[in-house]
Amino acid sequence: MKKKEISLSPDITIGGDATSLILGPCSVESYEQTRTVGALIHKLGLKIIRGGAFKPRTSPHAFQGLGEEGLEILRAVADEFDLLVVSEALGVEHVPLIAKYADMIQIGSRNMQHFPLLWAVGEQEKPVMLKRGFMSTIEEWLAATEHISTRGNEQIILCERGIRTFETATRNTLDTSAISLLKQTCPYPVLGDPSHATGRADLVIPAARAALAAGADGLLVEIHPNPLEALSDGAQSLTLAQAEELFDETTRIAIAMGRSIA
Ligand code: PEP
Ligand code: MN
Repeated sequence: MKKKEISLSPDITIGGDATSLILGPCSVESYEQTRTVGALIHKLGLKIIRGGAFKPRTSPHAFQGLGEEGLEILRAVADEFDLLVVSEALGVEHVPLIAKYADMIQIGSRNMQHFPLLWAVGEQEKPVMLKRGFMSTIEEWLAATEHISTRGNEQIILCERGIRTFETATRNTLDTSAISLLKQTCPYPVLGDPSHATGRADLVIPAARAALAAGADGLLVEIHPNPLEALSDGAQSLTLAQAEELFDETTRIAIAMGRSIA
């Protein structure tokens, strides 16, 4: 299967020889929080920051994100540190807004089969990161990519973020065989998300290693300056020190897999 390398900018691509490590908070909470994270990403020599401004929270009483203010913060921090931005569009109405501020549009797990949203990102030009629905088969996931590509946009990156199984000790179950299978059968780059897959910071680095060893082109990982005070997904967020450890581990596995790190 010929691999498709997706360009986020003239010099940053996903799916090439280099392994992409995408770090950032689950939610953009404040300028200070986001800048602290952005400074670390820059210090590590990485190029992409993630952060949610519109959050798909299970409870309507949970923090829903800062909205456009969050996107402004992300863009300001990214511009200061020369980073690219990935952020989630929760609905069709968010697509132009996310495309204005971000370099790649994230479609979340709960929206993998939100067809009008897939059509909307298919009709614009920014690359799309399509997370796997936590109850979706690989076949359904690939059908979702076609809802995007048949509208014109073939700049698609898949992200395995864990599926719901009978297991309750972890938030989800990381499907590493899906990563390996897709690498053999599908042209799009595949990322692993060990944060949502495990739900536990102490399992994020081991799951990250497994995703890379299975053939993932990169990782999407949640980090926070103070996970205990995070407004969303604190239990699975790495501290900045743990993020540095993750960077070292990622570099080691990337080299073992015959790749470099972007
Ligand atoms: C996220 O990346 O913060 C997120 C909400 O992920 P998922 O859609 O995989 O739950
Ligand atoms: Mn999250």
